[in-house]
Amino acid sequence: MQIREEVRKAVRERDSLDGMRRAFETIVERRKANAERFHDLQSAKDRLRELKEFSVGNDELLALAVSSLRENGCRVILAETRNSAIDLIAREVEGLSLVVKSKSNLTKELHITEALSERGVEVVETDLGDRIIQLQGGPSVHPTGPACHLTREQISALLSEHFGRPVSDDPKELTKAVKEEISGYLNRAQAGITGANAIAAREGAIVIVHNEGNAARCASVPGRHIVVTSSEKIVPSLRDAVDVASLQIFYSTGKLASAYIDVISGPSYTADIEKKIFRGMHGPEEVIVVIVDDGRRTVADREPLFCIGCGSCLTHCPVYSVVGPLFGTPGHPGGQGLSLLSSMDRLREAKDAGLYLCTSCGECKVVCPAAIDTRKSILKGRQACIDQKLEYSSEHGTVVASVRNYDNPWQMPRARRARWSSALRLPSRGEVIYFAGCSTSFLFPDIARNTVSLLRSIGVEPVYLGHSEKCCGSTVRKLGDVELARAKAESCFRDFAEAGAKVVVTSCPGCYSTLDSYDDLKRNSGLRVQHISQYMADHMDRLRISPVDDYGRVTYHDPCDLGREKGVFDEPRRLIEAALSSSAIEMDRFGSESACCGAGSGVKSSFDELALAMAQERVRHAESVGAETIVTACPWCVKNLRDCQGTNPSVSVVDLTELLLSSIAKER
Ligand code: SF4
Ligand code: SF4
Repeated sequence: MQIREEVRKAVRERDSLDGMRRAFETIVERRKANAERFHDLQSAKDRLRELKEFSVGNDELLALAVSSLRENGCRVILAETRNSAIDLIAREVEGLSLVVKSKSNLTKELHITEALSERGVEVVETDLGDRIIQLQGGPSVHPTGPACHLTREQISALLSEHFGRPVSDDPKELTKAVKEEISGYLNRAQAGITGANAIAAREGAIVIVHNEGNAARCASVPGRHIVVTSSEKIVPSLRDAVDVASLQIFYSTGKLASAYIDVISGPSYTADIEKKIFRGMHGPEEVIVVIVDDGRRTVADREPLFCIGCGSCLTHCPVYSVVGPLFGTPGHPGGQGLSLLSSMDRLREAKDAGLYLCTSCGECKVVCPAAIDTRKSILKGRQACIDQKLEYSSEHGTVVASVRNYDNPWQMPRARRARWSSALRLPSRGEVIYFAGCSTSFLFPDIARNTVSLLRSIGVEPVYLGHSEKCCGSTVRKLGDVELARAKAESCFRDFAEAGAKVVVTSCPGCYSTLDSYDDLKRNSGLRVQHISQYMADHMDRLRISPVDDYGRVTYHDPCDLGREKGVFDEPRRLIEAALSSSAIEMDRFGSESACCGAGSGVKSSFDELALAMAQERVRHAESVGAETIVTACPWCVKNLRDCQGTNPSVSVVDLTELLLSSIAKER
């Protein structure tokens, strides 16, 4: 099935992920509640970032880890490719009939369970959630809560069928049934496979975090313990490894500690009798550490490898919230997974698994303990798709061709661009230029007219380029065509300079963040770029506002390009505060953690159902705090938040310029 069809289906069936969303909310709430109790969280995060910057791709550290592990009696195998990793692991379990396994993202990525089963070795997942997923045959939805989307009724039906007897839907009964079955397997297994949360290079120690106790039992199976891991898990010291594990626990569950943190540095042994070493006392005789590279040493972008697999980005991603594991692959879930696949040059796979579903909202970076900029990496992946001539979806192809040929994304004749301004008689030269941009010009002429009225109200007569105004390149930049985007921006800056402008004011946060991103163009032309909310906030002393109460309870929705991308959070709020007779209220997620409306980065043009579903979630956020009006400062947010409510909206959606203008009109 094509990704578009899969997305449509997932949006239609999104109720099936209600359990996942509830579980994610619980994690997020617990994390908030415990944030103060985590000792110096910000420093721990900064340190994690530093550690990853230092460790990922560090060959000396890898060599130290290998030699320390070997010194401790581990057998270390370096596997260059996924196929060689599978073959090597298969060789280690050859002739065995039963292997138990605990949770590991890398083994999911390598499809180890399936690969060994095909070779006649039964592999049993021992984590409760993973075992349920193994029996169900569906995808897991979170690295540490793989089955959290399934209801107890669904699990009861699944287990009843599996055991051939009724299993009640009481969670205790369900857990007990699986526990008893897994215990039997653990007792009979001849080898155990685990992952590693971190590896301490200096001490040659493997750190494994778990709650159920299953990982320790897999690691203690008498025969052999096979650790399947990758080089990005290596950090300099045991102390660093425990620090990584602590953040992983906190961000994946919201808890301060897991039930177990195991440190394994070699096979089980005793030397109690005459100091003679006897291996395999109560645990395995052998510990085999398989370090899988699979393209990691040659990644185009190191940043996705900083991931510690906590899944925090998934709990906040608007796309994942709607379509779940469809966004990504089983071993590479969500945007981070796709950015890693892209940087490993597995572009086709990344594209088919949703590389173009990401709205570039950037929330994942805010909630990531390692501050991984997945948005940026996704855009690099899209750029690589262009370099390798992977085709766009037909909609995105049309958008890019239209920007190239018509200077707007919708094949609108250039002559129609300036229609909104026909009665305004705007000058063509002057210091302050109003850049209306494509969406405002063609889709939201009212916002353009409002903006001009606002500027005039503070004594500014803005320059407007009319039908000569070009596209700024925002959309094509987000679709990865950085060359075309740059050419468009250069053309815009040439026009601005010729018009004698010193300041460019935009209505659209996408235009603002795009034009403002070219430091050299700004420097060479001596131009400053501002969003209208910034410009008006800078000139509040000239605004003659009379507060209004026509909008009921108002909340502000932060557009991603304005807020998270450019850090403009306060200016719109100050203007709203001045324009309203009573204070606006905040949604639970606001400011840097604001949820995306779902329209950005070409998602609305190619996956409208998904964009609308994300907007519906955002409207629900507003409803849940009792808001009657959402004010925002982006034409696309206005459109998507209105479109998703159809003809009978429960919450009005108003652009900031409209609110400000109504408060100024009152004054007059
Ligand atoms: S990208 Fe960041 S938030 Fe997402 S799983 Fe990795 S470490 Fe956690
Ligand atoms: S940028 Fe937004 S949509 Fe994209 S992966 Fe991150 S959270 Fe999800």
